[in-house]
Amino acid sequence: MNFPLSRRVSDLQASDIRLMTRECERVGGINLGQGLGDLPVPAPVRDGAFEAIQTNRNSYSQSEGIADLRRAIAAKLLRDNGFEADPEREIVVTHGATGAFFAALTALLNPGDGTLLPEPYYGYHLNTIRLCGLDPHFLTLREPAFELEEAALRAAVRPNTRAIVLCTPSNPSGKMLSEEEIRRAERVAAEHDLLVITDEIYEYITYDGRRHISPAAVGSLRERTISIFGFSKTFSITGWRLGYAVAPEPLAAAINLVNDLAYVCAPTPLQYGVLEGLQASPEYFDQLRIIYQQKRDILCEGLAAAGIEPSIPSGAYYVLADIGRFGYPNAKAGALSLLEQTGVAAVPGSAFYRGGKGEHLIRFCFAKDDAVLREAVRRLRRFRHAD
Ligand code: PLP
Repeated sequence: MNFPLSRRVSDLQASDIRLMTRECERVGGINLGQGLGDLPVPAPVRDGAFEAIQTNRNSYSQSEGIADLRRAIAAKLLRDNGFEADPEREIVVTHGATGAFFAALTALLNPGDGTLLPEPYYGYHLNTIRLCGLDPHFLTLREPAFELEEAALRAAVRPNTRAIVLCTPSNPSGKMLSEEEIRRAERVAAEHDLLVITDEIYEYITYDGRRHISPAAVGSLRERTISIFGFSKTFSITGWRLGYAVAPEPLAAAINLVNDLAYVCAPTPLQYGVLEGLQASPEYFDQLRIIYQQKRDILCEGLAAAGIEPSIPSGAYYVLADIGRFGYPNAKAGALSLLEQTGVAAVPGSAFYRGGKGEHLIRFCFAKDDAVLREAVRRLRRFRHAD
């Protein structure tokens, strides 16, 4: 049937992540393109969900999530993120962090509103901004530090800008915002009365002794910030689709309304699983950092040895690497050639920038088994200059 697609859908950017995954499957390669997380689900999380299913807690929950989970999230926010939230009125459990992002944009912004997205960005953020009919505009963070500079941020604000998206630790760069950078965002947001919408899904995956700083814990940002978190990465449950948004009361109510209309509620028995996970001891989170830091080091040392210069991430589980000196015409050609020559798939940097930028970069994901990473690193040495 020749039925035209909606304009909103036609505007979306098809993901090169999917393309590389397909190509990787075709050649039977090692897929370091996509971030699925290969760690086992922690036993209490798995058993908590299993028990809820067995004891017939399988119906819809309140749209904002089960009360015990919201209380546990409030305790976690105070303990690990350094800010308070009322579990009755300010926390909404959602279909993943992505579901929270969609609900927040839909609830709080109008079509045509400007949304400032630092780049390199997570493709889902841009696509959702477009899907919601918003006007994305960009602030290119300078390599290799990807620092959020105040003058550049201020210059990127337009008359229609209503919100800034802050993804920290960042996918794809692994950059973590410092307190000083967050204060810059605070000043600019206050000057222009902007909402700040965060994505903190990698909050527990941080390296070299550094700790994540939640924007809502800095200065006066709490009152204008939608803080978005998820369980996918913390408990290696990307398929469970559970996350949450934290916002001042009237904003949280609006987010919950969209959450209710779009999804009814997050999966109930799985909410019981993550409730158990939130009781995990601090050692669980320390261990998570140690495990991923080892993976980061295997991959980054291997990349450097292969002459593919990595930009060492301080959080999340991705690394952007520079293939500029290999002489490929663009990032896609470089990534496809890398796959052909070495059997290792990565994602072209152009997936994280608007047209023309990021063409010297490729992104690797190191949420893989150590043995798989070692084999990938061995193969990467075969990567050669374009003819
Ligand atoms: N946000 C970022 C920055 C991500 O990298 C990802 C997954 O790769 C997600 C959100 C997905 O979150 P969820 O599984 O909670 O929807």
